[in-house]
Amino acid sequence: MRVLEIASEAVPFAKTGGLADVVGALPEALAGLGCDVTLVIPAYAEALGKGLPIEPAGIEFDVPIGTGSRRARILRCRREGQRADVYLIANDDLFDRPTLYGGASDYPDNAERFIFFSRAAVELACRLGGSWDILHCHDWQTGLVPAYRRLLYGSNPAVANARTVMTIHNMAYQGLFWHWDMLLTGIDWSHFTWREMEFYGQLNLLKTGVVFADAVSTVSPTYAREIQSAPGGCGLEGLLASRRDSLAGIVNGIDTSLWNPAADPLLPRGFGEADVEEGKYAARVALAARLGHAAPDARPLAAFVGRLVEQKGITLILDAITKLAGTGRVHFMVLGTGGRDEEHALRQVAAAFPGTVDVVIGFEEGLAHLVQAAADITLVPSLFEPCGLTQLYAQRYGSIPVVRATGGLVDTVVDATPETIRDGSATGFVFNGFDAAGLEHALGRALAAYDDKPVWKRLVGNTMRQDWSWQASGREYMRLFEQTRATTP
Ligand code: ADP
Repeated sequence: MRVLEIASEAVPFAKTGGLADVVGALPEALAGLGCDVTLVIPAYAEALGKGLPIEPAGIEFDVPIGTGSRRARILRCRREGQRADVYLIANDDLFDRPTLYGGASDYPDNAERFIFFSRAAVELACRLGGSWDILHCHDWQTGLVPAYRRLLYGSNPAVANARTVMTIHNMAYQGLFWHWDMLLTGIDWSHFTWREMEFYGQLNLLKTGVVFADAVSTVSPTYAREIQSAPGGCGLEGLLASRRDSLAGIVNGIDTSLWNPAADPLLPRGFGEADVEEGKYAARVALAARLGHAAPDARPLAAFVGRLVEQKGITLILDAITKLAGTGRVHFMVLGTGGRDEEHALRQVAAAFPGTVDVVIGFEEGLAHLVQAAADITLVPSLFEPCGLTQLYAQRYGSIPVVRATGGLVDTVVDATPETIRDGSATGFVFNGFDAAGLEHALGRALAAYDDKPVWKRLVGNTMRQDWSWQASGREYMRLFEQTRATTP
């Protein structure tokens, strides 16, 4: 099985969120299952500045864009011990920029940047020769690939028999652009209809991918169900429901070599289930030093790591902090970047409760590992969550997740009740309604369990033993690819 993975970010090259973690690990997981995998991503400044062994691949071509064209220079990265081939598509005008998608607002030419990237990826597939079985596309940035394969490249022998799989990592980001950007795609206007590429007068790249792909998947079975109705489908629920027979839900795995508490170079001391208390204490000491405290306090640490946006339930966290910080029962820590309002509000609660609430605004991979290792509880009170990775990292690092029952959180966390604690299946605390009272109640249950040492020990051991490696999910993707290959394109 020859698979081309096409995505806009991947660890260790460039990352803004969970998509990069998934695309960084999935190719190796598939290669381990006998797949011949190639990954293609844009050559951002971030990717080129990491000191990775990236060099010219000796391939250059023009990519038609609107009435003109733009040059694609192909780079290649070969890392020791990695089986998947990695190609990067360079065009300095489009990708040599400080961030991946823009800052407070998106880059105004994001349509052109990812129309170029999608078409260049298909061109590259054709130029690499041989024939592809699967073009696996991730999110709106690659939504045009299935349309290109079918409408413009269907007769090219390299992709003529390839099937396309469109994986949705978040319905809230669809790549919506003004209708004149349709001209940049090179696809005929006849496809700009509500049945294909148009969405309320705009060009919708994710919709395009869902319409033209041979199969569609998303990152958990619960989210796959939720997006087939409002509000989960974000306007595309009808289309997704019409594709229900070819819509799969596959939970993300985690990279257990990068996220391994026993051998994580970003921690002061490795730990496993047997010495979790010592490991967590060492991490708390290092975290306290990093935050400018003389020493950690004795209270349990409840942490949040993620994007500071409405989706992640920041308002609920702010409410819970305001209510509970004064009780002296718990220490809070937030690490994230996002909306200006959210950042400002968090800075304010940190100032209101010095020594009890720590807030770091910034994107710091090393600190994310340290916080998960130091934390006793990880908060994930999301409004919606396609899969979520932080609760999986938390489990591996012995931090108990407190989550809202939505999307992948339903599929990856089992609520702790006397029964599930007894039978060993409990892995966290789950609440239903998207309101502060729900989060506070669930956090209160977690803190009560923390005070009952035998129960907490059991819960922590149990979560640390969960297997969220890519083994199982990689096999599910393989099955999906096999099934899709057996369909007529
Ligand atoms: P999403 O993809 O919606 O942002 P996920 O939970 O799937 O959420 O993945 C988020 C990833 O990004 C995790 O690896 C998390 O550790 C990382 N992350 C998010 N914010 C930060 C930050 N401020 N600093 C470091 N890592 C972060």
